[in-house]
Amino acid sequence: MMEHSVIFPDHRKVCALGQGTWKMGKSALREAEEVEALRAGIELGMSVVDTAEMYGNEELVGTAIRGLRDRVFLVTKVLPGNASRTGTKAACERSLNKLRTDYVDLFLLHWGGPHPIEDTVASMIELQQEGKIKAWGVSNMDVPEMERFYAVPGGVSCAANQILYNLAHRGVEYDLLPWCRERHLPVMAYSPADEGRLSRNPVLMEIAQKHEATPVQIALAWILRRPGMIAIPKAGSVTHVQENYRSLSIKLTAEDVDLLDEAFPPPGRKVHLDSW
Ligand code: NAP
Repeated sequence: MMEHSVIFPDHRKVCALGQGTWKMGKSALREAEEVEALRAGIELGMSVVDTAEMYGNEELVGTAIRGLRDRVFLVTKVLPGNASRTGTKAACERSLNKLRTDYVDLFLLHWGGPHPIEDTVASMIELQQEGKIKAWGVSNMDVPEMERFYAVPGGVSCAANQILYNLAHRGVEYDLLPWCRERHLPVMAYSPADEGRLSRNPVLMEIAQKHEATPVQIALAWILRRPGMIAIPKAGSVTHVQENYRSLSIKLTAEDVDLLDEAFPPPGRKVHLDSW
């Protein structure tokens, strides 16, 4: 389903539907199913797999990608408190060990923190030169923060911004998405199903019925319409992964989009970036 694909600044191309992992690995009883779900998604071509040192599940992700590493675009994140000149590199080493791989495809600063961004960026670039990461990026950054990043040496080599974006959180459409678009900066939409809440929305249910689909599929299809955007739903079962995959082939009509705009109005003014 490369019709929905996103190209990174270094020309790597990925399917616009990836997989999140937050809250995976919390229950030993569910781990086997979660690993199976991630593997099923990778086999389907949903190569972007998103984790973070904060999630405490990099070992589980390491298990899920075993034998499939070359089909995965692996994303992990450094905690802001660790993102110093030396701490960023140490965090990357820890993540590589847990993930049992020798490189990550994209290493993100999870959100803004106490360390000078010049230091974080310099460490990211060094990690890139050492081949430990293919690219680096940021998460939870609004326009002013992005501008600060772009102003430091090497800052323009930022390869992605991962932000909260779904029908219920559209504020970024006002300025952040256009800002990223103008700079060809890929955006990763996290919580695309609003942590599952959109599965119970009546308007989505109505549209879903028309497409013989589910509300989550419609919520994902709505995000996938945007060029340069990767959605990373977290699905804890093969059934949910397969359902999410189908969203790549759902084409929303202009009428569907109008109904969604009515139910979830786009922003008419600057709204500060939401986060979980
Ligand atoms: P989400 O993907 O919007 O929603 C996850 C919930 O939706 C789970 O309860 C899941 O249930 C359910 N779900 C998934 N597919 C479904 C389907 N087809 N039908 C019905 N329900 C379905 O929320 P999220 O986990 O917060 O966000 C996704 C990923 O974004 C995270 O896992 C993480 O990787 C990333 N993230 C990043 C940040 C950041 O600060 N950078 C913050 C939050 C999240 P099951 O588990 O039962 O399938």
